[in-house]
Amino acid sequence: MAPPRPRPLVFCGPSGSGKSTLVSRMTKEFPDKFGFSVSHTTRSPRLGEINGQHYHFIVKEEMEQAISEDKFIEYAIFSGNIYGTSKAAVQKIIDQGKICILDIDVQGVKKIKGSNLNAWYIFVEPPSLEELEKRLRARNTETEESLLQRLKVAEEEMIYGKTPGNFHIIITNDNLDHAYDKLKAFLVNFVLNDDFSK
Ligand code: ADP
Ligand code: 5GP
Repeated sequence: MAPPRPRPLVFCGPSGSGKSTLVSRMTKEFPDKFGFSVSHTTRSPRLGEINGQHYHFIVKEEMEQAISEDKFIEYAIFSGNIYGTSKAAVQKIIDQGKICILDIDVQGVKKIKGSNLNAWYIFVEPPSLEELEKRLRARNTETEESLLQRLKVAEEEMIYGKTPGNFHIIITNDNLDHAYDKLKAFLVNFVLNDDFSK
């Protein structure tokens, strides 16, 4: 695949840090500019999640088959389930002439960095691990086991996310409006103002 123009936008951050909340706000504000790359996952849908919109929900065997057929740009195992970005999902957004948004974990970020996607990288961090736990519990989507796994992974993700040079911007999602303002400033000043000839 040729490097997409304009550059895709990668969101990464611990589960519960607020990526979906921020992405949903920006796609509502800029519906013509950004399109969400719908990943595949073997995890079960949460209440309210729509197949084909939040994820393509797929059984493990089919996912493994599709991976073996080279249909994914990247994939990773997160908390016991496979998640992956298909080439078709990204191509669909490119064909619409929009900036492609990926919401992926740290393993995915490392793989995308090794690809020719030439993306912008945004790390969304919670104000603290205690607050992250509170939000994940309040979201009420995880079993206790899944929640504890996510918190454990979050500590490692924070180390990678905070390492200088790994992301173009780190957004601390304390107050949602402040976090969104910071995101929007980055979008307006850099992502939407990109010189495509570079
Ligand atoms: P992620 O997509 O990173 O897993 P979500 O966007 O689902 O995270 O956010 C996790 C939970 O925290 C959701 O219930 C969301 O409504 C809530 N949330 C997001 N941002 C904030 C914030 N700034 N303050 C309080 N709660 C928040
Ligand atoms: P959740 O189950 O909370 O929706 O997602 C769990 C983690 O998987 C999050 O960190 C999310 O960013 C990541 N994720 C979602 N889709 C993909 C994907 O296609 N590839 C990778 N590597 N991670 C993904």
